Amino acid sequence: MILDTSEGIYRAHSKHERKNGQTETVCSVHQGRCASNARPCGTPDTLTGTAKLSKHDVFCRATGRKVAFTKALASLPRELRRALWQSYLAQHPVVRTKAA
Ligand SMILES: [Zn+2]
Repeated sequence: MILDTSEGIYRAHSKHERKNGQTETVCSVHQGRCASNARPCGTPDTLTGTAKLSKHDVFCRATGRKVAFTKALASLPRELRRALWQSYLAQHPVVRTKAA
């Protein structure tokens, strides 16, 4: 995903994988272009965040992506986090489900 912000262009990748019977989502965020087309792309200074699912949670790709993205951005300044989230949410609008 390309995150175009006033602070520059960032890229975010996320992948979901089964590990020891639990699903993890790993999100990598870095500035500028990818060092390669491989995944992981191997770009220096990539921030990563991991969302781990409890045994009792139901796996949801969107939730895993958001939790992992939040963790990946944790060390960045607030204004940059805000800009990245704005770009993220423009591409992944929040889908509200109707309460039963
Ligand atoms: Zn990349």
